[in-house]
Amino acid sequence: MTPTNKISHRPFRLFESLTPQWDHDLHIHTNWSQDNLNGPTAHEWLNLSERYKIHIGFTDHFETGYYIHHPPKYADLGSWKLNLNTIDNYLEEFDDLKSEFQHFSLGLEVSYHPSIQDRIWEFLDDYYSQFDYITGSVHEIDLFRAITVKKNVQPLIQNQVQFKSLIDRYFKLIQEMIDSKRFDIIAHPDVIFRFVSFSTLSKEIQNNYRRYLFDIAWLCDKTKTFMEINLSGYRYQWQDSFPKESLLAHFRMEDIPMVIGSDSHELSSFSSIVPKIRKLNNLLKNNWKFVYKFDPSRIK
Ligand SMILES: [Zn+2]
Ligand SMILES: [Zn+2]
Repeated sequence: MTPTNKISHRPFRLFESLTPQWDHDLHIHTNWSQDNLNGPTAHEWLNLSERYKIHIGFTDHFETGYYIHHPPKYADLGSWKLNLNTIDNYLEEFDDLKSEFQHFSLGLEVSYHPSIQDRIWEFLDDYYSQFDYITGSVHEIDLFRAITVKKNVQPLIQNQVQFKSLIDRYFKLIQEMIDSKRFDIIAHPDVIFRFVSFSTLSKEIQNNYRRYLFDIAWLCDKTKTFMEINLSGYRYQWQDSFPKESLLAHFRMEDIPMVIGSDSHELSSFSSIVPKIRKLNNLLKNNWKFVYKFDPSRIK
């Protein structure tokens, strides 16, 4: 497949591939993701989600940073299955599936970090239009120390002052990522809290939480970016969605563009979270009002 050049951001495009009247879950990992090599194939995902009548979006991990930096040994995951050499095969596999299934979109979960930004933009210049959407994630504050891995954050959580400064740095990166206007969806916007429960956070962090998330939500709105309601928090100490469910009705009232993503890596965890996917789809049902904001004539 020949990559097309220089299409950077077309906010409305995600809607074009959604199955009308079906619930959606736009964050699914197949066995192409490096952390899920023994996971389900796209075909298995499609059979299952068809039974639930849930339109799914695939967001396998794509790392551009990995190939230009030499990670320290502890971060070495071997050569990644999905990389610049295999991505065309990847696209072809999903192209073939389109003849059998229509209830899916093809996205990609791209890790953002400012130090590898040029490499990411170069990749997106070439591949943005090959995907239905691109999801951006901050997984690392310091490269090769993923904050989604417990041993990297656990020591910092013990010290709430240190943790607070990590949180501040994290949200700064999230804001930078949204401001770039290169991503259609911002994944798990507060995943930094994965390994804590809200009630154990210091009063200061608890009080700031709402402000952090509202700032993110308003920035998403301003930049025509979807904020993801990510359900992976239910699998960890957080025991809530990212962002917390208690904020969602407020975001909805402000017409913040939101989509739902379960971040499922296994069929069984998807099945068990289906009631939550339904409930949140229901919450968003009348939220699509915000699409007027995506009117191409209003987008600069
Ligand atoms: Zn992620
Ligand atoms: Zn993910």
